[in-house]
Amino acid sequence: MKVCFESVILVMLLSLVLSAEEAQKPGFRGKIIPKPQEIQQGDGMFTLTEKTVIFVRPSTSEMKAIGQYLADFLAPATGLKLKVKSPWLSKLSGIVLEIDPSRKALGDEGYVLTCTQKGVTITAAKPAGIFYGIQTLRQLLPVQVESRQQVEGVEWTVPCVSIKDQPRFRWRGMLLDPARHFLSKEFLFKYIDIMAMHKLNRLHLHLTDSQGWRVEIKRYPGLVEVGARLPNFSGKTGEGWFYTQDDIRQIVTYAAGRYVAIIPEIEMPGHSGAAQDAFPEMLCTSPLRNSLCIGNDRTIEIMEGVLAEVVGLFPSPYVHIGGDECNKAGWKNCTRCQTRIRVEKLKNEEELQSYFVRRMEKFLNVNGKMLVGWDEILEGGLAPNAVVQSWRGVKGGIEAARAGHDVIMSPTSHCYFDYYQGPKESEPRAIGGNLTLEKVYDYEPVPEELTPEQSKYIMGVQGNLWGEYVATGSHAEYMSFPRGSALAEVGWSVREGKSWADFYDRLGTLLRRLDLMGVNYRKPDVMRVK
Ligand SMILES: [Zn+2]
Repeated sequence: MKVCFESVILVMLLSLVLSAEEAQKPGFRGKIIPKPQEIQQGDGMFTLTEKTVIFVRPSTSEMKAIGQYLADFLAPATGLKLKVKSPWLSKLSGIVLEIDPSRKALGDEGYVLTCTQKGVTITAAKPAGIFYGIQTLRQLLPVQVESRQQVEGVEWTVPCVSIKDQPRFRWRGMLLDPARHFLSKEFLFKYIDIMAMHKLNRLHLHLTDSQGWRVEIKRYPGLVEVGARLPNFSGKTGEGWFYTQDDIRQIVTYAAGRYVAIIPEIEMPGHSGAAQDAFPEMLCTSPLRNSLCIGNDRTIEIMEGVLAEVVGLFPSPYVHIGGDECNKAGWKNCTRCQTRIRVEKLKNEEELQSYFVRRMEKFLNVNGKMLVGWDEILEGGLAPNAVVQSWRGVKGGIEAARAGHDVIMSPTSHCYFDYYQGPKESEPRAIGGNLTLEKVYDYEPVPEELTPEQSKYIMGVQGNLWGEYVATGSHAEYMSFPRGSALAEVGWSVREGKSWADFYDRLGTLLRRLDLMGVNYRKPDVMRVK
């Protein structure tokens, strides 16, 4: 009880400090990340009270769920239990969430938010837009709204404002790597919440690698029985280091409620040691762990069987098959792989990989999914409908966009969040490199080499947090934010008027929100000096 009481006092003290600081800064509110496209500040405030009602139109289950999400978000800190109602009664004070299909110009994710002294209205063409309007409303409220405990003495006001906003890119992603070090389902829920606040909309999970197989496949139980018990990247073993299919459904549903799509990655044909430990027949005749034997029909059968279940588990139209860093030496000395090359009239091992990727793509396409792969899938010929994720610089992205393929940009230079983010001597061990917050913010995802027509194939950006040196969720937060906050702005906000100084000014407010959310972010260097 003592601990509990102390934390209440702490929250109260914290809120007093924050209120005082806010009072000293006129125009403080409206420091939103990612920066909205248009924002016009008016005069006065709207105040949330116990009489405020959340109205949703039309009264679909999806809109009611969004309304309830807002009510549930506001309840802990404000103590207000707002009702979600439909239809709208104009004489009541309220927050109106309204779909207007005629506002097509806002796209799937855009919204208009208007706050007057009478209330707040968020209008969008699609529910996702309403959800992002709510994320903006959240950042218009005092930061204490992020507290999960009731905060006394704060007026829950929203400044009168008019905002029109929509994202620059449709793919705004982050990658987590539970294969190298398992990350719990509960941590993923928290991470998805942090992403949602940033209007990030794709969580790519690297579910399999040579250190572990982390997703239950019913028809091949050996994959987790063997693959989830292997030593992780730190050499440790543990029980239950995988997601059951029920876990996956919960993660997918939780994410969908926050307009985040989970993109599963089942790595092949390289990085496949865990799968081979469960099924040694997927090793070449000259056994070299990690690269699947493509000459063996059984390999194709097993991987298609895996994908058949993955397709059913994840509603996202995209399935990532990796395709990177495949050591092809084993194929050179494998009688089965060499036979495959001869029979299929392939030139070399690059074309053998391409042959395999095309087969997987065909399987996915038949099952209504698009294949995504790292830029190595360009080598030996690109599968006809594949999406390319450019990581070894931007060359792969340029080549794919010129060939008319959709592209996700995540070059190591600006998007590898497993890199150091400051001087090595003062940072926890990382994989290498140096990717500062400012460098992430400066990233421009559309290469100058592309014509406007080709640029349309750049779907967006993704920050990749590989897990070799990320053993815990807390450390994943440290590596992800605020670099992920900078990337969110790269992915959402327009290029014109981009300013590091302006971003940095807004970031201070966002970090106080992250404090209250219990996020273990890395303090930016200048703030450290202060
Ligand atoms: Zn082979």
